[in-house]
This record gives sequence, structure tokens and C-alpha cells, in this order.
Amino acid sequence: MNPAIPNQQDYYSIHSITDSTFQINLHNHVFAYLIVGSQKALLIDTGWGTVDLKSIVESLTSLPLIVANTHGHLDHIYGNFQFQEVFIKEEDAMLIFFDYTKEKRESILKRFGEPILPSGMTLDDWLNIKPQKSSFLNDVKYFDLGDRRIETIDIPGHTKGSVAFLDRKERLLFSGDSILNASIFLHFNLSTKLDVYQKSVDQLIALSDSFDFIYPSHPAAPIDPSFLHKLKRAVEQIIQGEVVGEKREIYGRQCLVCDFEEFEISIREDSL
Ligand SMILES: [Zn+2]
Repeated sequence: MNPAIPNQQDYYSIHSITDSTFQINLHNHVFAYLIVGSQKALLIDTGWGTVDLKSIVESLTSLPLIVANTHGHLDHIYGNFQFQEVFIKEEDAMLIFFDYTKEKRESILKRFGEPILPSGMTLDDWLNIKPQKSSFLNDVKYFDLGDRRIETIDIPGHTKGSVAFLDRKERLLFSGDSILNASIFLHFNLSTKLDVYQKSVDQLIALSDSFDFIYPSHPAAPIDPSFLHKLKRAVEQIIQGEVVGEKREIYGRQCLVCDFEEFEISIREDSL
């Protein structure tokens, strides 16, 4: 086998959630989701930019495509360059400009190996991609895909501009990094205070009659909606001082990690 040609299976795999909803697992680390309606399709997030995501999507649907980011962190936006228009909340759009640097792409190269590039693109082109202008999600209440309508739900916490996407027809919620049954990071510069995140969790609980499964952006998925109640209680325990975090450094930032056995929540010292 030619080692210069990456084994695509190491880069991504596709799983059907329903006949017309796909989970694209990128490096077994982060998920993009493709929701196909009768008229249009919606791609949620674009991963690390290490695969030819546009071709992958085109192998699954030929319908006009809308692309939107759950939030602005690099493992969700680095593939945006393949698409003409990508929606993101204005609050997170600055992260794209901050993160689209050659240094960060070189670190991705080290981590995952040479990317599988769209035809005609060289590695040098990829390393030097400039951030594109985003379209803002702020006034978008929903995306109409024909027989499916995907609502945008603001859930600030992990970042100020974090959103979830709700599909009432198929009863699915796509929660980005804000609702995870692993490590919930609320300690970034752009993370909100804990009471703001608490309202986001409450809002999802209020909507939980509308979905049967939560699909987060990182393994493991799906999550049962009852998890939201555990999360609500955990946040209350932190706010009330019943659970105190342990000081740790995550991604070069000091934080307090609050352990709840099944999951953990990391916050800044000034999150309370
Ligand atoms: Zn994130």
C-alpha cells in the first residue's frame, strides 16, 4: 500500500441515524451530522478540515446544502473552507479568524497526518487557507428543508454563541459540545458564567418532549434526554457550593474540574 495515500477509514466513517440523517464520524473524535429533507439538506459542523467533506456529503445527497456550525471551536469549523456559505452565531464568528492560522493547521497535520484534500488543492493551499466571511445564525429561527424544519436553539455556555439544532419531526436534538456525557468544558475565555449555562440546560429540559435522542458532537452518542436532569442537578450543586472543583490545566487553561462520575464539568474560577 502506498503510505502517501491515507486510509480513508482512519479519517472518517458514516453511520445512518435514520434513512435521511447521517452521523459522519471524523477521526473517531468529532461528529458532523447531515440532515436530508425533501428539498434541501443541512450539514451541522465541518470537523477538522482533514477530509474532502463536500464530496462525502455529495455521496449522500444531491440536494442544495445549507451548512451551519454549532459553535466556533476549531474541530467544528476547520472544514468550513469547502463551502461557500456557512452559518454561525455572530458571538462565535471571531473564533474562526482567531483559529484559522498556519500554525494551528500544522498542529492538525502532526496530530492526524496529511489531510485528504479536495481535488486540485495542494497541502500548501490547505496550510494557508484564509478564513471566509460567515453568515450569522442570529436571525435564523429555523432551516426549512422541505418536509423537515430544523430549529436553532441558543444554548450559550460552552461558548457564548453555542447553538443546538432541533428536528421535531425525527425527534432528534443535535447539541454540539454543550451537552456531552463526558467532559463539558465551560472554562474557555468565550465560555459563559455558570448561571447562563444553567438557563440553557433548563431551556432544553423545557423542550425535551420534542426529542427522543440527543446527538452531541463528540463520542459517545446518542444521549438519553433524561441526562439533562442529571446535568441540571450537577450545575445546581456547583452553584450552591456542594461540589467544589479540583484545580487542573486543560488545553493550557487553568480551570476547576467538578467530577460527577458519569461526566465532569470544568469551569473558570470566575464562572460562579
Ligand atoms: Zn467546543
